[in-house]
Amino acid sequence: MKCKICNTENENIHYILRNSKVIKCKNCNFHYSTYLDEEFNSDAQGDEPLTDELRNYLRHQLQNNKQRFSSQVKISTEYLEGIESPKILDVGIGGGLYLSMMSATNLKPDSYGIELDQLRLKFAKEEYKLKDIYSLPLQDDFWIENHKNSFDLITLWDVIEHVNSPKEIFECSKILLKDGGLLIMDTPCRDTFYHKFGSFTYKMSNGKLPTFLNIMYSDHPYGHKQILSKKDVDSLCDLSGHQLKYMEVFHELSFPIKFYLKKMFKSSLLVSVMNPIVEVILNLFRIKNKMIFVAQKHNNGNH
Ligand SMILES: [Zn+2]
Repeated sequence: MKCKICNTENENIHYILRNSKVIKCKNCNFHYSTYLDEEFNSDAQGDEPLTDELRNYLRHQLQNNKQRFSSQVKISTEYLEGIESPKILDVGIGGGLYLSMMSATNLKPDSYGIELDQLRLKFAKEEYKLKDIYSLPLQDDFWIENHKNSFDLITLWDVIEHVNSPKEIFECSKILLKDGGLLIMDTPCRDTFYHKFGSFTYKMSNGKLPTFLNIMYSDHPYGHKQILSKKDVDSLCDLSGHQLKYMEVFHELSFPIKFYLKKMFKSSLLVSVMNPIVEVILNLFRIKNKMIFVAQKHNNGNH
């Protein structure tokens, strides 16, 4: 399977994990799963109603960490300062909290959003009265035909690790952003303790103990298909005509800790016992696991 960044043909599986097979590119070192989601087709989705169970999940699991959303709004507004009613696009809006918070800022942005999951889209419309949100992928002609060279900001919060082709996302961003427009993303970072530790235990145990790697990659639909390194982000920016303005590695858990423990351990007793201990350890050490970066579309037209 060809490397999704540099196109090198790679045959060898580097990690065989519980839910995924991961290839490490022999040329550029990019790590990606062999799995690809089926081409998205919104017609295939039925018109299911929203359930309270899903509302609860979106409010209290997916949008559990309120600090996370405040930080996203903070960095976005900082970079948009001075632009009147900036036009923004959030890709993978989830429950819609970020867009809703952005709309409430005094920037008064012209907000657009993408969410491929119809039920989440429905929730965002119902809960936050968001209007210009669509279940059309970024690659869809709709965006190019109606919004070419027009956005001041495109954001992807915890999204790039889920897509089939990260390179395509960067290329679409280049087409849809204004000259000088900004692309901001956060995503798990491969140059951090969890991935390194997972790779260490995997190696030492001949593949029997992948520890953290097992929760970092998954072949479930819209699971994590790649974990980018800082160098991968550099390459993707270069290839797509963006200039990296800012990058930082930081600590952040999107979900409650129990959510991750349940993924790692099957025994619910073990999860209950571990939860308070892990909580203390994580709060004490705040081990960095993610990166955030800001890239700017080059001003020189067709880079
Ligand atoms: Zn490669």
